[in-house]
Amino acid sequence: MMQADILIVDDNPNNLFALENLLAAPNLNIITAQSGNEALAKTLSHEFAIALLDVQMPEMDGFETAALMRGNSRTRHIPIIFVTANRTEREHVFRGYDSGAVDYLAKPLDADVLKSKINVFLELHRHRRALEEKTAELDAKIVELERLQALLQERNEQLRVLSRTDRLTGIFNRLSFDETLDYEWRRCLRTGKPLTLIMADIDHFKAYNDRLGHIAGDHCLKQVAWALSAALMRHVDTLARYGGEEFSAILPETDEAGAVAVVTRMRNAVKALNIAHPASDTERHVTVSLGVASIIPGPDGHTLQLIENADAAMYLAKQLGRDRYALYSQTLTS
Ligand code: GH3
Ligand code: MG
Ligand code: MG
Repeated sequence: MMQADILIVDDNPNNLFALENLLAAPNLNIITAQSGNEALAKTLSHEFAIALLDVQMPEMDGFETAALMRGNSRTRHIPIIFVTANRTEREHVFRGYDSGAVDYLAKPLDADVLKSKINVFLELHRHRRALEEKTAELDAKIVELERLQALLQERNEQLRVLSRTDRLTGIFNRLSFDETLDYEWRRCLRTGKPLTLIMADIDHFKAYNDRLGHIAGDHCLKQVAWALSAALMRHVDTLARYGGEEFSAILPETDEAGAVAVVTRMRNAVKALNIAHPASDTERHVTVSLGVASIIPGPDGHTLQLIENADAAMYLAKQLGRDRYALYSQTLTS
């Protein structure tokens, strides 16, 4: 059984001796003091479960001693039993101390009453200790929980980014493309602004792979992706890998005429990479063909239509000799 420290204070050594004998129990570690000052000094080296204070003492009486204990956060929670000799003292209300932690006993002390009061306070002390331990445990658990929560959030964010990123090129993937196109479609539907889609496809890329191998092909794809994204100037523009060697750019609030500058930059950026293409029928370096389609989204329209139109424009660019762009409006007249 854990021993509880109990402080008994009385200026009369005989009283102290008598009290000590009265209280002697295996679960109590009794500490005595013959003055208020000595009592306060002993609170520095012990965590008392109870203090039994004689009220009438020379120099510093029990109430003054208690007032000093009240003023110290280390001692203000120690339950106090004042031992009083006369009626007026018994009616003294000791204020400002932790509530429920003050009691009065009259001299001469009745052993049974004293013991039962002390047991009540000891019980209180045990509960307080247990509560403190549980609180500390809970605090530690909360800290751990918060750490795990932050980790989870970080992982989720990493996963979210990863699930929308193309592994090879690091640009947005098809999933992200579909989401963005849907989102921008609805946005332009509300604002009545045009939405433009650009499809870019590397020319003779099968031949490039066949001649130079897939490792070189992958490297080429990365460079082309980088060049194409560098050609986009507005932060709302999005470049995604649509599939294989096809890339797609979404340009919100942009019409066909406005997109011409962008596709021109895209074509030139890939050219400027100057990646040798020994198997191309078109040029000695890697080139792209691009298709542009614009639409003002209407309530009956669909994103698929825009994709089909951009595709049709891209195929026209292939037919016209590759290494160029074509507009969807051209497919309607040619
Ligand atoms: P075109 O000029 O008409 O576009 O001809 P193309 O050869 O580029 O077109 P095609 O669709 O016949 O071939 C596309 C090739 O792109 C097939 C495949 O070898 C290559 N490809 C697709 N995805 C990847 C990839 O992730 N890595 C590599 N290295 N090659 C890829
Ligand atoms: Mg293709
Ligand atoms: Mg191709």
